[in-house]
Amino acid sequence: MRAKTIAKTFGLWTVSLSWGCLMTFFGLSVAIALLATGHRPHFFHGFVWFETGEHWGGFECGPIFVVQRHAQESVKRHEAGHGLQNMLLGPFMPFLISLPSAIRYHYRAYLRRKGRGAALPPYDSIWFEKWATEWGERYFLPQRESGE
Ligand SMILES: [Zn+2]
Repeated sequence: MRAKTIAKTFGLWTVSLSWGCLMTFFGLSVAIALLATGHRPHFFHGFVWFETGEHWGGFECGPIFVVQRHAQESVKRHEAGHGLQNMLLGPFMPFLISLPSAIRYHYRAYLRRKGRGAALPPYDSIWFEKWATEWGERYFLPQRESGE
């Protein structure tokens, strides 16, 4: 690992385990449950992530995220974008973003099951999803790493 990668990883985990610890402790519980059920951890720009299930998307808890099997890189960048939001928002993250995002996700899934998916606005039409995608693209696109 290069020095810059180590520094970024250290920063991510230091902030996530202090100011952002609310989501991080939830993430660590999820990670322990996944490890206990034989899921293998993967690494993405200092984040630890797991994959499980099919066709559902992903969620993040601090420096840890979980995505569907064979998730696209853009999904991982989006979840890592939420991880940066957690570093900024700390204890406000679950109330401002994580819970509203989870409720919205399930409400959208419910509408799709009812056959009303075509009328749904784009996933990123709400501010916190758009923001996670933008930060994911800004900080975690591969070409941004090539100059280091
Ligand atoms: Zn999201």
